[in-house]
Amino acid sequence: MRDAAANYILGLIHEIVAVDSTLILLAVLVVMCVMVLDSIASHARRVREAAGLSRRSSTISVDGARSLPLRNYVSDMQGLAGRPDALVIENGYLIPIERKPTSNKVRDRYVAQLLVYMRLIEEFEGKKPPYGYLILGANCRRIKIENSEERQAWLQSLIDEMNSILKGAAAKASPHPRKCSKCPVKEHCSFKALPAPRGASSSAAKRKAALPVL
Ligand code: SF4
Repeated sequence: MRDAAANYILGLIHEIVAVDSTLILLAVLVVMCVMVLDSIASHARRVREAAGLSRRSSTISVDGARSLPLRNYVSDMQGLAGRPDALVIENGYLIPIERKPTSNKVRDRYVAQLLVYMRLIEEFEGKKPPYGYLILGANCRRIKIENSEERQAWLQSLIDEMNSILKGAAAKASPHPRKCSKCPVKEHCSFKALPAPRGASSSAAKRKAALPVL
């Protein structure tokens, strides 16, 4: 009788130990899963931050991503084409993003590029983006470029100028004195700009003044 009781208690202890081992294994598995998921989420957050994207935007396309391929817009009607580096949705609008990793300055040509994307998105997606983003430099500084009427009018003036040159009008050079001063062919160039006398504004500065405020 005593032996039977001892065997029963021993069996019970074995069962408890076996159950405990299973529970411990399950707990370890759960902790490992949580750690893996957390690491994936952290990586995704770092990638989004590196691209200059905020948490409140959902990504639609990214250059280099297989699952979110780029959208290539070609408009015969407007005579424009473009492929934004990324597209995100913010507040119900499709927002284009242009990445310039080697530049820290907002340049007119970058703004013009974004404005073209915004025109194309309006035509192909049916909704006018209120703004786009430039992501500049290694630190991914994000600049919001408003899609204003003033800027679109400036873009139109550039497009009109290009179209008139394509039709045979003479192209006007707009050299910048600072660039010309470092140019290796300046001695042989008839378009070079000389530094403006002190107090006088250069032709490039006058042209810049005609552009919309960035
Ligand atoms: S010198 Fe002539 S080629 Fe060189 S940057 Fe100026 S305009 Fe251009």
